[in-house]
Amino acid sequence: AAREGVLLSVAGVTKQFRGLRALDEVTLAVDSGEIRGIVGPNGSGKTTLFNVISGFYRATAGAVSFAGADTTTARPYTLSLAGLARTFQNLRLFGQLTVAENILVALDRSRTRSLWQYALWQPGVLARERRLRARADEVLARYGLTDFAEADPSSLPYGIQRRIEIARAMAARPRLLLLDEPAAGLNGEEVRQLIGIVRSIRDSGTTVVLIEHNMGLVMSLCEKVTVLSSGKVIAEGTPREVVSAPEVIEAYLGD
Ligand code: ADP
Repeated sequence: AAREGVLLSVAGVTKQFRGLRALDEVTLAVDSGEIRGIVGPNGSGKTTLFNVISGFYRATAGAVSFAGADTTTARPYTLSLAGLARTFQNLRLFGQLTVAENILVALDRSRTRSLWQYALWQPGVLARERRLRARADEVLARYGLTDFAEADPSSLPYGIQRRIEIARAMAARPRLLLLDEPAAGLNGEEVRQLIGIVRSIRDSGTTVVLIEHNMGLVMSLCEKVTVLSSGKVIAEGTPREVVSAPEVIEAYLGD
């Protein structure tokens, strides 16, 4: 995979919720082409970090930059158009839509034309519609979802639903994918499939940052891991290095 330097940088980020400091001067940099793991005990600030990076929360102090731009105050929609995609700890699929439509919605989000433009450019719109359908079919095939295209996502096994969520996040070919506990609730075989999926995502040119409790998955996917505890970065290095760091052992024993 190409390494073109830093894609995501978090510099001295603090996030304060009233009396609680969920992030305390967090600094980290993720290179293009990396699969970075974010680990830490419950409540250590991992999801808050994702929310700050993706614009759902605004940092109380510090700066975030993505793809060379200062995105400290950018909104989620802007970041998504700039190539940042994420999944959530709890599934957020659209229940009224089929699997294929969930993918189409993600592909179609850059469309902001007004109605009169539709009327004027009818042939162009139809051609675009066909291109989107073809692209959705490609995405479904790539993630092994073709057989479920017309299904209601909520009728499918949990492991398949998680895969739909990743496929939807990847539909617009983001530069950075944030995965919040992608292995939660998956069985051993599904975790093995997930490892293959995340590798192929990285190999196709998308940088990945994942929050994960499953250390087996972190060990096999990540070259570098950042460990949070009480909102602070307490260790960073290879999975092997961090699991044997005394600060990390202490943080987990106290959990
Ligand atoms: P983790 O993902 O590592 O389990 P979180 O980032 O979810 O940790 O939470 C870190 C701390 O911030 C927790 O104490 C949590 O209760 C608090 N927190 C997270 N979001 C909010 C919020 N919107 N309002 C108040 N407190 C929050």
